Amino acid sequence: MGIVVQKYGGSSVADAAGVKRVAQRIVNTKKAGHQVVVVVSAMGDTTDELIDLANEVSPLPPARELDMLLTAGERISMAVLAMAIQNLGHEARSFTGSQAGVITDAAHGRAKIIDVTPGRIQAAIDEGAIAIVAGFQGVSQTTKDITTLGRGGSDTTAVALAVALEADVCEIYSDVDGIFTADPRIEPTARKVPRISYEETLEMAAQGAKILHLRCVEYARRYDMPIHVRSSFSEKEGTWVVRAADVTVVAQEESKPMEAAIITGVAHDRSQAKITVVGVPDKPGEAAAIFRAVAEAEINIDMIVQNVSAAATSLTDISFTLPRGEGQTAMTALSRLQESVGFDSLQYDDSVGKVSIVGAGMSSSPGISARFFEALSEAGVNIEMISTSEIRVSVVVAETQVESAVNAAHAAFDLGSDEIEAVVYGGTGR
Ligand code: ASP
Ligand code: MG
Repeated sequence: MGIVVQKYGGSSVADAAGVKRVAQRIVNTKKAGHQVVVVVSAMGDTTDELIDLANEVSPLPPARELDMLLTAGERISMAVLAMAIQNLGHEARSFTGSQAGVITDAAHGRAKIIDVTPGRIQAAIDEGAIAIVAGFQGVSQTTKDITTLGRGGSDTTAVALAVALEADVCEIYSDVDGIFTADPRIEPTARKVPRISYEETLEMAAQGAKILHLRCVEYARRYDMPIHVRSSFSEKEGTWVVRAADVTVVAQEESKPMEAAIITGVAHDRSQAKITVVGVPDKPGEAAAIFRAVAEAEINIDMIVQNVSAAATSLTDISFTLPRGEGQTAMTALSRLQESVGFDSLQYDDSVGKVSIVGAGMSSSPGISARFFEALSEAGVNIEMISTSEIRVSVVVAETQVESAVNAAHAAFDLGSDEIEAVVYGGTGR
């Protein structure tokens, strides 16, 4: 049998009991005849605690040292897990990201993987050992310094290793049973999605669903590596993230009604804010100046809406959304432009939320937006902004209405199940 890469998140290995439970699971996979490579995150909230510690000793911890500190979290869990497995009578060897051949660029805190040379991992599993790899870290090709991949980066480590080792599957374990049609914490009838395409998963993740690290899905899509998202707290089959064609084939084999797949899920995001630039002169170059200023402040924006200008005044309003944490920076950058661009004022609103419906089937079925907006209207939810992609419709609404909007959309597309399916085992997510 082939190679299986398994990734366990922080909530799965939060304490000694969790580590022992995961060790048993790994051994079971090994006994079933697979070669097993495990990627592990830092135990529980270790990464957050290490960041707090850094901030206590320095208001601006140097990026190189911060990475050195944070990677210690995964070194602890990998060694402890290897010990627990050995205690069950199986050979296990732990490796840092660098030892596992995870080569990155030099961007501390957000390094990109540029190559994976898993020679030592391959040798370990060929000798019959279980290889345990510290997630979220690598070594810079140029500086040889230790780097981290950004928060939640262990998912990406796992997929990258699975691709490099030509594994059969990359299993990602967390404290929920898979990907759900909506966040079970606000939509109790949420159903587990058995199969979902890479594209839909990317849209769901980008729209705030806390499923998988965005980059890990991009990586898996590029190399066509199937991801099985499941819980380490149960034996249940989770959600398979695969090519769109494979989702369709299986649905046909199981003779599931195809229309069921028009909408796959509802995602929501409370991490955004909205800025409106009021009274912008309607002439070429104004939007360019505004967004150049935002770009120079290194802020990633999401939705943009510009109104038709009022004929009488030739003035227009431009609104856009951005991560809340960047709101202050953006407002400062924009207020510097007030005179040169000649707009009237700036408005900042951080009590907004975004609700999105995602589904590959919507590109070929008319009336999806109408059904979504009708459902919102019946729930008394006011739409502030709208944006779409081929497989997604998103709206910005008042933050207080996010929950009703999710519930309304979920019901309008018949996504709910009769029995409660969703169990959240851990607590803090991954
Ligand atoms: N331990 C890191 C974090 O908490 C990486 C991960 O969990 O994937 O962000
Ligand atoms: Mg973590």
